[in-house]
Amino acid sequence: MRTPLAQEFHDLLERGRDRQLRLAVTGLSRSGKTAFLTSLVNQLRHAGLEARLDLLPAAREGRLLGARRINQQDLGVPRFPYDQAMLALDAEPPRWPEPTRGISELRLVIRYRPAKRGLMGADTRQLTLDLFDYPGEWLLDLPLLAHDYPSWCETQQHEGTQRAAMFADWRAAVASLDPAADADEAQLAEIAERYAQGLRAAREAGFSDLQPGRFLLPGELSGAPVLQFFPLPGIGAIDATERDAYGTESNYATLARRFRHYQQHIVKPFYREHFRRFDRQIVLVDLLGALNAGPERFEDLSRALSRLMKSFDYGQRSLLSRLFSPRIDRLAIAATKADHVTPEQHPRLVALLEALLAEPLKDLRFADVPVRALSLASIRASEAREVEHQGQRTPALRGESLTGEALLLYPGELPDRLPGREFWSRQGFDFPAFRPLPRDAGALPHIRMDAALDWLIGDKLQ
Ligand code: GDP
Repeated sequence: MRTPLAQEFHDLLERGRDRQLRLAVTGLSRSGKTAFLTSLVNQLRHAGLEARLDLLPAAREGRLLGARRINQQDLGVPRFPYDQAMLALDAEPPRWPEPTRGISELRLVIRYRPAKRGLMGADTRQLTLDLFDYPGEWLLDLPLLAHDYPSWCETQQHEGTQRAAMFADWRAAVASLDPAADADEAQLAEIAERYAQGLRAAREAGFSDLQPGRFLLPGELSGAPVLQFFPLPGIGAIDATERDAYGTESNYATLARRFRHYQQHIVKPFYREHFRRFDRQIVLVDLLGALNAGPERFEDLSRALSRLMKSFDYGQRSLLSRLFSPRIDRLAIAATKADHVTPEQHPRLVALLEALLAEPLKDLRFADVPVRALSLASIRASEAREVEHQGQRTPALRGESLTGEALLLYPGELPDRLPGREFWSRQGFDFPAFRPLPRDAGALPHIRMDAALDWLIGDKLQ
């Protein structure tokens, strides 16, 4: 039992602690991270003014006073380019912001009035919100930590007709490489480049389950030997003593060394220096894009997401808990770009997301990580309409194509469960990309950004 004084002291400390929150945004390339973070900052900066945030109680009750950007703490992390993003959206015609490529950060101070006035009498409080944005591809590398080089090679088979075609060049080149022969730097670099080309082609085609993640977004590592490795097909089947006898300068030993270096110096530091310190996380998923792209890519997204979600599975014995003891205490998973479907389809979008993530969600709930699935449009680029069709009123969307054509369309019905063969044979779903709507000053139009904000920071604004 605490004495009243001790309780007060304890509360004070707690409140002090609550005044800072590190919120991370991730998702695979083109899932909508840049749009989300831009909108999030924009909504909070317009809170208390024009922003429409009715699902966030602090805003609805008029307690949210606004937000200001201040200098971030970590000078080693690039700043999230909010101003550039707003310039693109305000251009004529409006453009989507350039996506970020690595990790970036932005620090906001939010001012609000607490729901209940405390004894301490303070009228307004501040919450410092550190926002981070990083590529979901980096999380695909977590499972790589559980492998040694030969067992990792076994997991990288690139089967499936489309994928096999994209990796054909690499496969042909690697077939002529003798694992036991002395390594030739130039040859390894060349085969690694073909492997990276395969990964890039697969990503272009909409595939997501791709490793190593940094091959796709190399940043400052471009051309470094640490990114010049690749799997050796069939190496796992060779007896370990035979492999070890190849010698330290062999192709096999060189590739295995680079693989270990990648694990130790690229993958682990991200988890240790950044990931471990996030308090909350939202994972964005371009479910509609995958649905639009066909069955093989939809399957691939499903596989990539279950891998990616392993980074949030904090079961006592999970690889992650053992290595890094992370502390994320709340997770959101959001299907983005919901403005590509008519409003009555939104519940289906969430149902579909939950179905797609059924297994990882089960694991997370079992590990007692609070998680919520939702659908949203960070920057709404269409307007919901009703049109007369054969004497009936039907829902439709109005917007502009990326080249500026006026569009009025009904994109189709979403399946209410994981799409089966019947759905794909009907080709039941198709939509073009919209360009952002021209806008007046004020907050960006959105769908359910306020619901996401409520789940991610609402409790800190009480
Ligand atoms: P990132 O690679 O995860 O940062 O993804 P971006 O935020 O750059 O989004 C990729 C693309 O998706 C954008 O260029 C837009 O075309 C589209 N997009 C993102 N968010 C929205 C949205 O809320 N509505 C619509 N209609 N399109 C969006």
